[in-house]
Amino acid sequence: MQSPPSALRALPIPPIVKPRLLRHLLLPLPIILLMLACGYAAYYLSEQIGIRALADTGERQLELHARAVESEISTHTYLPSLLELEASVTRLLVMPTEYRRERVNVYLEGLNQRSGSRAIYVLDTNGRVLATSNWRDADSFQGEDLSFRAYFRDAMAGKPGRFYGVGTTTGEPGYYLAHGLRHHDRIIGVAVVKIRLDPLERRWERARLEAFVSDENGIIILSSDPARRLKAVRPLDEATRTRLASSLQYHWTRLDELQPIDRRPFGRAELLSLPSQDPAGGGARPIRYLAQSLPLNDSAWTFNLLTPVQDVRREAISHGMLAAVAFALLAFLLIAWNERRKVLATRLAAREALQQANNQLERKIAERTADLRASNERLRGQIRERRLAEETLRKTQDDLIQAGKLAVIGQMSTSIAHELNQPLAALRTLAGNSVRFLQRGNLETTSSNLQTINELVDHMGRITASLRAFARRSDDTGEARLGKAVDAALFLLHPRLERTPLNIHRDFADVRLAIDQTRLEQILVNLIVNAIDAMAAQRDRQLWLEGRADEDRYLLTVRDNGPGIPPALRTHLFEPFFTTKPGEQGLGLGLTLSASLAAAAGGNLSVRHPDEGGTAFVLSLQSLAPTEKPADE
Ligand code: ADP
Repeated sequence: MQSPPSALRALPIPPIVKPRLLRHLLLPLPIILLMLACGYAAYYLSEQIGIRALADTGERQLELHARAVESEISTHTYLPSLLELEASVTRLLVMPTEYRRERVNVYLEGLNQRSGSRAIYVLDTNGRVLATSNWRDADSFQGEDLSFRAYFRDAMAGKPGRFYGVGTTTGEPGYYLAHGLRHHDRIIGVAVVKIRLDPLERRWERARLEAFVSDENGIIILSSDPARRLKAVRPLDEATRTRLASSLQYHWTRLDELQPIDRRPFGRAELLSLPSQDPAGGGARPIRYLAQSLPLNDSAWTFNLLTPVQDVRREAISHGMLAAVAFALLAFLLIAWNERRKVLATRLAAREALQQANNQLERKIAERTADLRASNERLRGQIRERRLAEETLRKTQDDLIQAGKLAVIGQMSTSIAHELNQPLAALRTLAGNSVRFLQRGNLETTSSNLQTINELVDHMGRITASLRAFARRSDDTGEARLGKAVDAALFLLHPRLERTPLNIHRDFADVRLAIDQTRLEQILVNLIVNAIDAMAAQRDRQLWLEGRADEDRYLLTVRDNGPGIPPALRTHLFEPFFTTKPGEQGLGLGLTLSASLAAAAGGNLSVRHPDEGGTAFVLSLQSLAPTEKPADE
């Protein structure tokens, strides 16, 4: 198999499968991590932004509702000081009598109704209730000692008494506004107005607000959620607890702490996680709130607003998920795009490599074509030279044949001269006799002599004609008749045959063969001359001329019963100038020429050495016509 062109072998081999597989396996991990990070970042940002928006809204609500609490309180602040103007109250405090008490009670009752407060009452300097708006009620404060109340002490000290507490009689929470009632620059008693602030709570509930108000002790005194009421927003130490318990400010309440599970500052606000009762009845479930607070004017109270952040959180979670999904989508698109880019790059590289290989191939083809053209040119030159050589060879061969012929003629010259001399001598005698017979008038003998002379001249003409024909140059093409050629050869050799008679056996057909007539005759002359020469020394000389057809060829065997050829010489037979004949008798060209003449006509000449002795030469030539009946002997 052919190895691929070097350019193709140089093609970049795609990255090995293993690292690629590894990459494909490892790739999802960072993508997932990034996706999670992206989702978390989006969640975090969204939550921060959401909480900030909540904080902004909360700030406004905080302001609004804190002012509402303040105004709720401030609408009643003037009330206790108003009693200073009421003479019946002053009289009662200066000189308490039952009558005066009743009058003040009625007055306070009416005032209480009009102002919408919970109760209005007057204390003497000992802290005992002298008159009260709820004097008709069973749980009236009448006669109660409230000297332990801080507001009483404050009012007695000339300060405005502000106090939130749970009523000792009613157990009802309320806000107490106290004022020291002066008479001649002396505090003669204290006027107290108790107001209820629960309408505020209901208002918050209606507005679905989670809000509470904590007092100076950090106790939640108002709350939209009743469960948070009277809880401490900060840890209370033992001393404070004892103090608060002894003041009965919060009645007998335990003052548990509102313990946030978690608290984190967020700007000016705080993020709290508070336990809440699961509506499904399960355990406490923490709820996260944004806690904002604002101190109320004219008091040590703080208004607190709790805004649940679950919605924000839910929204942030969905934003986070959305971002993660968007990131995953983006990553997927990026990976797909990258893979596509890689595929395109590989395809481009392959195309370039192919183009390169193509160019290289084309260059090689061009080089090879040039080489081929050059070697073609060289071959053409060689063919020309070969043709020239062939031409020269043919010419040389022709010359050789010619030389061979002439050599044969030269060899036969003695016999030819003898052959011609005989009729010439006869001619001379016959001509001389004819002259004498003519002079004697013997016309008959003269005519007979002339007739003989004529025959002799004809005979001599035939000899020279055959010699001329034999000596004539001939070519490779043409056709010959075998019978005619044998006759011509024997005729040519007639003088030799007369001196060395042979017994000739003719057993062949007069076929048409693809060879020049003269050349065939020349071959036959050579073979017969050799046979005559070989058998010259023996008495019994036999020559067989046997033919047979072999497909489209005709094989003529010229066999003698001579001594044969010694094995040592057999290989040299067809070599030029190989001869065993003495002196000028042999040139050693006969067989060489005959073989080359046969080969030039598309045939061949070979030798056989029959076991019974002698030598047989087989001439094989292309037959032109179907074999005819054997020629007569
Ligand atoms: P030449 O006849 O001039 O010697 P040839 O090429 O015709 O040249 O023959 C070469 C030699 O082959 C002869 O010298 C002879 O020794 C041998 N030869 C040829 N024909 C015969 C034959 N029929 N019988 C024996 N020897 C032969």
